[in-house]
Amino acid sequence: MAQRPYIVGNWKMNGTRAMLSEARAIDRAAQRHMKVEVAVAPPFTLIHAVHREAEQIGVGAQDCHPGEDGAHTGDISASMLADAGAKFVILGHSERRTAHGESNDLVKSKAQAALEAGMRVIMCCGEDEKTRNSGKAEKFVLDQLRASLPEMDNAEERLTVAYEPIWAIGTGNTATVEDIEAMHKAIRGLLVELFGEEQGAEVRILYGGSVKPDNAREILSAEEVGGALVGGASLTADSFMGIALAA
Ligand code: PGA
Repeated sequence: MAQRPYIVGNWKMNGTRAMLSEARAIDRAAQRHMKVEVAVAPPFTLIHAVHREAEQIGVGAQDCHPGEDGAHTGDISASMLADAGAKFVILGHSERRTAHGESNDLVKSKAQAALEAGMRVIMCCGEDEKTRNSGKAEKFVLDQLRASLPEMDNAEERLTVAYEPIWAIGTGNTATVEDIEAMHKAIRGLLVELFGEEQGAEVRILYGGSVKPDNAREILSAEEVGGALVGGASLTADSFMGIALAA
């Protein structure tokens, strides 16, 4: 059974309580468009508040610590996030891999912690411009995913993959539909290999990187694109739901 398109807003380090009105507007609009599954990942400080506002949309986090509660100053565990109302965690985002030096191993252990806490995982992957230009993007992305994904049961329910070419994030550049389709098909092949025919075929693969209301329809209608991970354009209900409506 094909899953609904999944449109996820990654608010990154944006949002004070003033943003709760946008969350409410997104939630109301999502109630009118049930054909699409809509979710947002606010910063840690807003997860609980958005969770309390949300009737329809899913609420998730942008990171978690790989370990259990304890002496880790400044960190947030997966079980604390689940307690705050988070239903998923975005992991392996290139901004964390780059700015925080997160290795595939660390990303994988964070994913394990999130799954153990009962949350779903959105696993990000993507190549930089140099790798794309060298013609090795596909191999890079598959190697990255293979090393970052933990084993799991029911992958179709617990896992989403987000392909986000680094050179497309926040730049206004998007990959061509042909490149997106080729990469998503390669990722599908890996998911089937790792999780079997049935589950691997059902895991949604999102595209991310400068998705906007005016390019969303073309991107979302591409083969093997199961939704979008949206940064900048998820910060207002108008533009974010413009993308959801295109799905
Ligand atoms: P962007 O970010 O939509 O602002 O390019 C996407 C992301 O990093 O998830």
